Amino acid sequence: MNTVQLNNGITMPQLGFGVWQVPDAEATPAVAEALAAGYRSIDTAAAYGNESGVGAAIAQSDVDRSDVFVTTKLWNDDHGYDSTLRAFDESMRKLGLDVLDLYLIHWPRPARGLYVDTWKAFVELQKEGRIRAIGVSNFQPAHLRELIDETGVVPAVNQVELHPYLQQAELRAFHAEHGIRTEAWSPLGQGGELLGDPVVTEIAARHGRSAAQVVLRWHLQIGNIVIPKSVTPSRIRENIAVFDFELSGEELAALSTLDRGGRIGPNPDTLN
Ligand code: NAD
Repeated sequence: MNTVQLNNGITMPQLGFGVWQVPDAEATPAVAEALAAGYRSIDTAAAYGNESGVGAAIAQSDVDRSDVFVTTKLWNDDHGYDSTLRAFDESMRKLGLDVLDLYLIHWPRPARGLYVDTWKAFVELQKEGRIRAIGVSNFQPAHLRELIDETGVVPAVNQVELHPYLQQAELRAFHAEHGIRTEAWSPLGQGGELLGDPVVTEIAARHGRSAAQVVLRWHLQIGNIVIPKSVTPSRIRENIAVFDFELSGEELAALSTLDRGGRIGPNPDTLN
C-alpha cells in the first residue's frame, strides 16, 4: 500500500475505504471485508451513523489497531469550541478508540461563521494527543486561508469532491502551495456515468482493467488520497488491486480532458 506523508510527519495510506451510506449493522462486515482485502484506512463520519459498526469491525479484526488509519468527521450541527469537544468524545465512544488518526471538519458552513472556533478545538485535541492529525473537508481556498491566518495551523488534509468530471485544479494548486494533502471523495463519481465514459472504458480495455481501477489509478498518479466505497466484496477487492499497473502520460492527459467542473454534491459555499 502506498502511503503519503502529512504536514506533521505522520503517514496515511493513499487508498482507503469509505463508508458513507453504509448502515451501522452493515458497516461491521463491510469494514471486516475491507481489512481482509488489505485496506488499512477507513473513512467514516458522525453523520454517517456507523461509527459504532466501524469500531466493532476494527476491534474484532486480527489487524493491529496501530496498523489501521481511522478518519471521522465533525458534523455541521456541532460547530463551535465546546460542542466540538463534546462531539469528539461521542465519536470516540462510538468508535471505541483512545486516539483518532484524523479528524475533519465535515463542511465549513460559512454563513454560521464558526469554523475558526471549531478549528481551535481541533488544535487543542491534537495538542492533548487525542488526535494524530487534523484536517477539513469541503473547504474552499478562502476558508482555508482564514483558518491559517487565524490560528497558524495548516490543515493536514482537505477532503473534497474530486473525480475526472470535477478535477478541482485551482484548489489542488492551493493545497500544493500550502502543504495540504488533497483527499478525493466520490472518487468514482459515485459509480455513475463516469465509469461508462468511453475515454475511461477505452483505457481500461487497453490495460485489461475495470473502469473503476483506471479512475482510481488516475487519482493515485496525480497524488490524491482516495477512499472509494463499496459493500460488494468483489468490488472492495477490485478497488484496492490498483498498485500493479500504471497509466501512461498520454492516458493521464486524456483523462484530464474530462473535467466539466460540475458537482454531484452540494456547493460548500452555500451548504448550511
Ligand atoms: P464513490 O465514488 O466511492 O462511489 C461509490 C459507488 O460506486 C458504490 O456505491 C457503487 O455503486 C459504485 N462502485 C464502487 N466500486 C465499484 C466498482 N469497482 N465498479 C463499479 N462500480 C463501483 O462514492 P462515495 O461513496 O460518494 O465516496 C466515497 C467515500 O467518500 C464515501 O464513502 C465517504 O467515506 C466519502 N465522502 C465524503 C464526503 C464529504 O463531504 N466529506 C461526501 C461524500 C463521500
